Amino acid sequence: MHVISTSKDNRPAVEALGFEVKTEIFTLFEVAEDDERWPEVARLVKEWKAQDIQRTDFAHEEVLAAEHVCLVQEAKASFPQPKNNFEYRRIVYDLSGYCQACGAGMRQIAPFRVDRRPRWGPSVLGQIHWTDDEFFCAKKLWGRVFEPLGVGCWPVFRKQDIALADFVQLRIEQTSASPLRIPENAPASRCPHCRAVKLQPWRRGHFPPFAEPVSAPVVRSREWFGSGYAAFKAVIVAREVAAAMLEHGVYGVRYWPLRPMLRVIT
Ligand SMILES: [Zn+2]
Repeated sequence: MHVISTSKDNRPAVEALGFEVKTEIFTLFEVAEDDERWPEVARLVKEWKAQDIQRTDFAHEEVLAAEHVCLVQEAKASFPQPKNNFEYRRIVYDLSGYCQACGAGMRQIAPFRVDRRPRWGPSVLGQIHWTDDEFFCAKKLWGRVFEPLGVGCWPVFRKQDIALADFVQLRIEQTSASPLRIPENAPASRCPHCRAVKLQPWRRGHFPPFAEPVSAPVVRSREWFGSGYAAFKAVIVAREVAAAMLEHGVYGVRYWPLRPMLRVIT
């Protein structure tokens, strides 16, 4: 799948090809590589110097066939508070291992505060702005899908230290003991200050598998991803969790299966 974004001036041409445009200020649309219009779109992308983000979409059966599934955010709303100068960070995180140059090393020690509860449907698992590896949902959804499988939660506060009645954050405390099997040629950068290695997020094909078996219901990767000042870890759930999520119609995230650990190379 290609996610194309270009200037709003190109919207008529995109609509003339029969694509549905999802945004107002610029033109954003999706096209599959096996779509008969793809060659024409590829030509226009070049001509317009449009942004083309590639990703692979997986059917539910492919997701359920994987032992682990990476969760990729698609829904974002609300801001952590107090947001001026990122002040919330000093409350929410232990910053003793944090590197300002690359963004790696924050560790959550207290609940988030938000300006308001996001207006999400009851089955949405989403993120609040400025968080790339934390997921939030209705408390009822957590109780139905995640709690029975051993995934805890943090409360989420409103500005005035009042816990929201029906809104929680998934508590992802474990970092995977196993590294991911990252291809040696994967684009990465090493921070000159803290020496942390950050991998560029990639989108095609399966997500890389763990090198060793991992049994926790949800873990963060050992590896950092991102570029510039942003750093995040991949959030990876076990198959049972992904299955329960799909069974309950949880959306707001993309389900990205990890490649099987043992693969016959043909
Ligand atoms: Zn650093």
